Amino acid sequence: MYLQARARRIELRTGRFNIDNGMKACLERTLQAIPGAHLDCLQYIQIRDRNDYAGGSTNRARNIWPTTRPGSRNYWIMLDIDSFDPVQRPINNRPNGLHYTLLHEIGHVVDWSTNNFRWIRRNDRVGYHLINARHHSSRFTNHSQEKFADTYADLFFYPRGRNQQRDRCIEVILNSPAFTDLLSFVRLPNGWHLSPANH
Ligand SMILES: [Zn+2]
Repeated sequence: MYLQARARRIELRTGRFNIDNGMKACLERTLQAIPGAHLDCLQYIQIRDRNDYAGGSTNRARNIWPTTRPGSRNYWIMLDIDSFDPVQRPINNRPNGLHYTLLHEIGHVVDWSTNNFRWIRRNDRVGYHLINARHHSSRFTNHSQEKFADTYADLFFYPRGRNQQRDRCIEVILNSPAFTDLLSFVRLPNGWHLSPANH
């Protein structure tokens, strides 16, 4: 099965799971919400079922596409089938909403394919500490890369202006290469804009 978004086709490996039209539409809405360039290092999404529910994970792909920019890597994302369960994971299952777990995993792809969070650590100490200070609710992981991935997801998920700390973290990543290096005009959701200096 393929997902269509941003003039791209991303393979969805469903395994033994039945992905219905509503689930497929939710994933495509989510991919459609983010800049197309952020999908360029994502090879495929795999649906799995694990004993310990962890939502999802991002993994380095074995082979790199010939079209991938030199120095970049390729990744694939695993999503637990339970992430579509409205009881276990209501945040992913709001009516016409986005799949927060997938946004979070794409945050890892964006970070790891360009070392974006390391750039923030070196070039924006205040911003780095802001993101590090944010709350991360997972009982599985709590390191700073998780906070970057959550901040990335927040940008596409929450309306601007509801939470000052969250908004300040989002401003940090909007001023990092993941966004300032985007070559084409990108319309961001939730009232966010790229700074005019860059576009
Ligand atoms: Zn993560």
